[in-house]
Amino acid sequence: MKIYKFGGASVKSADGVRNLEKIVKTTDQQLVVVVSAMGKMTNALELVANSFFNKKSDTDTLIQKVVDYHEAIISELFGNSRATVDLLVNDLYDDLREIVSHKPSLSYDYEYDRIVSFGELISTTIIAAYLKQRGLEAEWVDVRRAIITDSNYREGNVNMEISAKLCNEAFTGKKLCITQGFIAGTVTNQTTTLGREGSDYTAAILANVLDAKDVTIWKDVPGVMNADPKIYKDVQIIPTLSYKEAIELSYCGASVIHPKTVKPLQNKKIPLYVRSFVEPEKEGSVICNYTKQINLPPIYINKRNQVLLSLTPRDFSFIAEERLSKIFGVLASYRLKSSLVQTAAISFSLCVDYNEVNFQKMVDELKDEYEVLYNTDVELITIRHYTKEIVDKLVGERLVYVEQRNRLTARFVVPA
Ligand code: ASP
Ligand code: MG
Repeated sequence: MKIYKFGGASVKSADGVRNLEKIVKTTDQQLVVVVSAMGKMTNALELVANSFFNKKSDTDTLIQKVVDYHEAIISELFGNSRATVDLLVNDLYDDLREIVSHKPSLSYDYEYDRIVSFGELISTTIIAAYLKQRGLEAEWVDVRRAIITDSNYREGNVNMEISAKLCNEAFTGKKLCITQGFIAGTVTNQTTTLGREGSDYTAAILANVLDAKDVTIWKDVPGVMNADPKIYKDVQIIPTLSYKEAIELSYCGASVIHPKTVKPLQNKKIPLYVRSFVEPEKEGSVICNYTKQINLPPIYINKRNQVLLSLTPRDFSFIAEERLSKIFGVLASYRLKSSLVQTAAISFSLCVDYNEVNFQKMVDELKDEYEVLYNTDVELITIRHYTKEIVDKLVGERLVYVEQRNRLTARFVVPA
């Protein structure tokens, strides 16, 4: 069995769906296709969730935008033979409207998950119906009854044991399954999600529990690149990477795969191919159990939208282990992720993914005990396999707030 994952950009239009069909047809092996929400529909549904939760008046208008987007794609794909798909998607639109016709509960995260999950539910419904109409033996599978998480809404923790059993029941023995990335369910059938951009992780979980031969992520880049081609011109493709290198890169902010994707694959030594849906004939990159020393070029990652925070205890006490564990506890409770930390005797600096609301709440909680200083609008530049030339080129004369180097990696916090 193979797993293919298609992200939102690959299925943002009718042409994208036709291209998916073309790629799916290139293999005659048993296949599970994991699909994200079409285009930017998760963002659009986040607006619906916010409007609903905050009892604003534009919820229906925002839902209509989501409906219109999908309807345009359906018209183009199905023409006049759309009766079957209409029945299915209309049910989903009705379900969504039904949710927002009631009062929201007190949990934002719970409401968020049950609303944004419609992006994946609708995209897979359209795609499965389309493939069937094209004569493929495609089966739509509701992943919420197969991948089971706890009720940590918006970042569900997967129970691999129960999921393994349910996934094997749901997917085994079927030629071609179409299922949702990013979403999951609890043991009591509540909808959860695995965190933004989590569809890669879904593909990896399925590969692990189904003992797939390999996973392919179809992307709008030709493979894993040594830098973001949207920012830099002279980038190159890296044909082979070890799991370790891949996990380091995604942790540093390389957007090529979701950081959680590597573990389930590494644990079963399942290779992960990253290939272009625009040029599917090209080989792309493979992330696998590669232990030999690979000579990699410098790989550089600009992690934007960071905030640099510095904490100094007001009573002049040392930043010792107990304090650190408390600080990290506070970070975790606001779901803020630190990407770099540096300690000194009585001060502690860290670079955090910026989320305005949660960040302010965290600062409020810390400021009684600490003097809190911060710079928003900073970026973290990470250079793996750095050379003097590349450091000069990327950092040069720029102001550097924090710098860290070890044998393989150099990191710089600079104003954005
Ligand atoms: N649709 C989800 C998102 O945009 C999951 C994904 O694309 O991986 O975050
Ligand atoms: Mg996406």
